[in-house]
Amino acid sequence: MPKQPPGDDSVGRMQFLLGLRRRGISDPAVLRAMDEVPREHFVESSFMDKAYADQALPIACGQTISQPYVVAFMTEHLDVQPTHRVLEVGTGSGYQAAVLSRLARDVVSVERYRTLADAARQRLSLLGYDNVEVVVGDGLAGVPERAPYDRVIVTAAAETVPDALVGELIDGGVMVLPLGPHAGPQQLVKLTKGEQGIKQEDLIGVRFVPLLPGKAREL
Ligand code: SAH
Repeated sequence: MPKQPPGDDSVGRMQFLLGLRRRGISDPAVLRAMDEVPREHFVESSFMDKAYADQALPIACGQTISQPYVVAFMTEHLDVQPTHRVLEVGTGSGYQAAVLSRLARDVVSVERYRTLADAARQRLSLLGYDNVEVVVGDGLAGVPERAPYDRVIVTAAAETVPDALVGELIDGGVMVLPLGPHAGPQQLVKLTKGEQGIKQEDLIGVRFVPLLPGKAREL
């Protein structure tokens, strides 16, 4: 069998995409975005060999980069169009923001740890994802200066739907977020803001780090 050049994980990347398809991700634009964004640049160097495994991995500040399947699943259910402005709460590594940037007009992503926000901003800029703005702040309040948003995605688990985020969505806008107790079972839900109020659709069971109030004091 021909040996792969070092650092070339093209076989791993092909399996990664096949795995997403097999698990039901079917939107070609989402699959293309997942194919384009190099996840190895978003994981810690010690986990580089696991960059294309379908698992969440630890990043700085005790947080995690989400499992690729969950990133693709949430992105697919968000139904992002090329004219959209998207708000992400929970920048973490910046990976989900990078995937969204391939589908949306622009992405605003808010993170409560300055260390993570600064690293993600630098990484996204080096990779040329220049339609992403990373902001340090409390995502429970959203980013009102840039509102309204066509889509909102929350990548940390909320115990209840944050009202401010609903307020920053356009009418007809969609929000995808994990809801549930910090240590217990959480459900990914899709909310659609309509004239009759909010419609909620339950999607799948998930496990996310908690959405915590306020900017992080340390770092
Ligand atoms: N989307 C990320 C995964 C993030 S993990 C990625 O693709 O890598 C969840 C992130 O949400 C953590 O970095 C955590 O610090 C952040 N977070 C939790 N509560 C928050 C809040 N109130 N405001 C902003 N970020 C928050």
